[in-house]
Amino acid sequence: MNIREIEAKSILRKHRRVDSWFVSCYGMNLYRGCSHACAYCDGRSETYNTKGDFGQDIDVKVNAIEVLRRELDPRRKRVPLKRSYIMLGGGVGDSYQPVEKKYLLTRRVLELIREYDFPVHVLTKSTLVTRDVDIIKEIDRQSRAIVSMSFSTADDTLAAIFEPGVPSPTERLETLRYFKNEGIACGMFLLPVIPFITDTTESIENTVKKASETGVDFIIFGGMTLKDGRQKDHFMAVLKEHRPELILKYQAIYLGNRWGQATAGYYDSLNRTFYRAARKYRVPVRMPRAFFADILSENDLVAVLLEHIDYLLGMEGERTPFGYAAHSISRLEQPLSSMMGELRVLRGVGEATERLIREILKTGTSSYYERLSAPYRKS
Ligand code: SF4
Repeated sequence: MNIREIEAKSILRKHRRVDSWFVSCYGMNLYRGCSHACAYCDGRSETYNTKGDFGQDIDVKVNAIEVLRRELDPRRKRVPLKRSYIMLGGGVGDSYQPVEKKYLLTRRVLELIREYDFPVHVLTKSTLVTRDVDIIKEIDRQSRAIVSMSFSTADDTLAAIFEPGVPSPTERLETLRYFKNEGIACGMFLLPVIPFITDTTESIENTVKKASETGVDFIIFGGMTLKDGRQKDHFMAVLKEHRPELILKYQAIYLGNRWGQATAGYYDSLNRTFYRAARKYRVPVRMPRAFFADILSENDLVAVLLEHIDYLLGMEGERTPFGYAAHSISRLEQPLSSMMGELRVLRGVGEATERLIREILKTGTSSYYERLSAPYRKS
């Protein structure tokens, strides 16, 4: 592994709108590049400008703590940061990859988040996260914390091929159980499942069942993208070595889409498989409302719940305007409650959406949302 120490100009990445998967407006990458070297990692794609040999060359933002302190300190802000989870992980490098043992950037960021009293959502594939259970519990007591781990499968043998640098799925599930026992909310990101390998009904059902038995509070699910260039070349080389008979099937679903997406038909059938498994084992497919209702601003709460309704209906094959409405609401400057007479001027807001918005503003939830999400909750 080659480590390069660099100075970053900024650390906090502000999303243009609240992200309804992580329920977050802010994220960060403390490291660029990742020695976990998952075969499918899209951090390898040229889109993200990671330098050198991905998996071997790691940039460490050694001034991250002093820069982030400036960015979080409310006395230095004209406009205060929005309340939402600060997302720690994902992107172009795992926050708990091995280099973290030496630099402790993630631990020191958690200390800052505790100091400035923000909620945190940690996403990793590394069991090293247990090292920071003390701070995570303190943040949870103050403002709330979630620990999520990502998986492509619960099968240890397959994971050893496609995720060579990380602890096995069994160890990751044990880590989630550990945090649950410590009273911390936990999520699974079953993302991405690998086409024709970990996306079978049997494989998805097995993973969802294990997640349910572990007590995870939600699963976020998604298929794999393969962007042309370094990401696709690397993945296809691994596939050629281990499952060459699948190459033609991959060529049939990855047709060179700009975002690396497979065909819509493939994703539709995949989503249906997950939908059935999540209902069978009663695992929420989005973060439960109780984890964010008291954190978000009224606009962001409405936007996230509308997006969750849109997703839940999408799982049943319905298309809705709620996603468009969520998009325009989350970019509004003024509070929705100050424009009750003119909600319909917002893009995507018709009669049904207006009714939902009014109910959410009044009660903090929507009876429609509660009904749609009930089949995924343990009774
Ligand atoms: S752990 Fe995440 S960031 Fe690191 S290589 Fe794997 S997918 Fe990429």
